[in-house]
Amino acid sequence: MQNIDNALLELPAELVTRDQDILSSYLTDFRRQYTGATTALLRPRHTADVQTIIRVCAKHRVGIVPQGGNTSYCTAATPNADGRELLISLEKMNRLRDLDKENLSVTADAGMILADLQRAADEAGLLLPLALGSQQSCRLGGNLSTNAGGINVVRYGMTRDLVLGLEAVLPDGSIYSELNPLRKNNSGYDVKQLFIGAEGTLGIITGVSLKLMRKSCQTITAFLAVRDISSLSAILNAAQIQSGEAITSFEYISSASLNLLLTAKKHLRHPLPDESEHYVVLEAATVSPILNLEECMNALLAELLESGMIGDGTIAASQQQRAALWYLRESIPEAEVHHGGSVKHDIAVRTSRLSAFIESASRLVKKHRDDAILSIYGHVGDGNVHFNIVPPIGIDQNAFKDRVEREISPEIYQLAFEMGGTFSAEYGIGRVKLDLLRRYGAEGKTHIMERIKTAIDPRGILNPGKVIP
Ligand SMILES: Cc1cc2nc3c(=O)[nH]c(=O)nc-3n(C[C@H](O)[C@H](O)[C@H](O)COP(=O)(O)OP(=O)(O)OC[C@H]3O[C@@H](n4cnc5c(N)ncnc54)[C@H](O)[C@@H]3O)c2cc1C
Repeated sequence: MQNIDNALLELPAELVTRDQDILSSYLTDFRRQYTGATTALLRPRHTADVQTIIRVCAKHRVGIVPQGGNTSYCTAATPNADGRELLISLEKMNRLRDLDKENLSVTADAGMILADLQRAADEAGLLLPLALGSQQSCRLGGNLSTNAGGINVVRYGMTRDLVLGLEAVLPDGSIYSELNPLRKNNSGYDVKQLFIGAEGTLGIITGVSLKLMRKSCQTITAFLAVRDISSLSAILNAAQIQSGEAITSFEYISSASLNLLLTAKKHLRHPLPDESEHYVVLEAATVSPILNLEECMNALLAELLESGMIGDGTIAASQQQRAALWYLRESIPEAEVHHGGSVKHDIAVRTSRLSAFIESASRLVKKHRDDAILSIYGHVGDGNVHFNIVPPIGIDQNAFKDRVEREISPEIYQLAFEMGGTFSAEYGIGRVKLDLLRRYGAEGKTHIMERIKTAIDPRGILNPGKVIP
């Protein structure tokens, strides 16, 4: 610990917090899977402060763990339990640097909360399309470092697709700055891509330029009761055609997930008169004042009812009803927590195989545990499903979850792999999926990752023990 003490002696006092009461709120991850320890939290105010911190930590070979809003799911933002790493939070770096309405771009400090930037875009009459359930607390640096997905990927892509420019401080304290909101820039390697999805292992992201979109003048949201899960892909296809490719979200909810929610929050109502096994929340948006989205959605529902693909459906008639439908979708993780938690599997397969994956994985679980509750939901428009196994009521939940992780999860990951899918669609690797990366990473991938890490961070001071097996 001598090197940490020496580093802290050299750092400007105003950047260092040692108060353990304050520190404790940063040390446990969102899902309460891991609690780390640290001597101090470092809170820079400017990029130059980040450089000072990194230079001092590099000199004393002290590990640094970047933390944004601490909402990620793979314990990637918590320091190790041995207390030998320092935590850095960019929460004081939350300025909007530039918003260019004509260029449809925005540049901001990486410590800004996502919802604050969405609001700034909205006030300028534009849309920042990155949207996720954690947007009131997650921060841009965390969003980039996890390459976050969310509910609009089907139309606008992952965070990576929205990033135009990036500024980061490297492990030797130097700056990589390409914070330029250009739409085209083929001047050599696209270096910024290295930091996106790197989970803080290659540099501390300090600034980011993102694409903005024109704000839609029509948005329409529907809730569908799907008859047969195998028609999910056909429903998405029909919706894209009827709306002229205007679908922004296509989210699946299983009856088990909805029931967990309706049990946890008694004031909520089922949006349809009859229950179904499968539901979809579907949203379309357009900037066109001519296209009539309501007509498109009515035509879609008529087509789907006639073909028997859906048993029922409702279209939100007001902003309040739209918010109520989204509340159902976005509160499922909370309902799982209320029930006592779940064993999560963040799977993606190609969309054409998603229904087959859900069916096979469900059979596989039931073969082991007929009483398991399968809370299955997610961004199925992107081939991403959260396949979560929830303990039945009245049993030892921790013992159940341990057993699922030991006996069932490996089979689910193996199934995803055999179907050409991935064990981590949007949550990353952190410290909890290192074994899976070792096992299922593409051939030669971890070798290249190790070489990149060694080239950029030879002393291994940035977020040690995460991402690199
Ligand atoms: C209710 C809920 C809903 C969610 N929905 C989604 C979803 O739909 N899609 C999705 O993808 N995720 C989702 N998530 C997961 C999570 O919100 C995202 O991964 C988010 O992008 C994490 O941002 P954060 O600021 O909280 O990052 P943190 O958890 O603080 O950190 C994440 C990683 O980024 C690194 N990091 C943080 N800041 C920096 C920086 N400035 N420079 C370098 N590295 C940095 C950390 O070290 C860590 O490795 C959800 C989480 C919750 C709780």
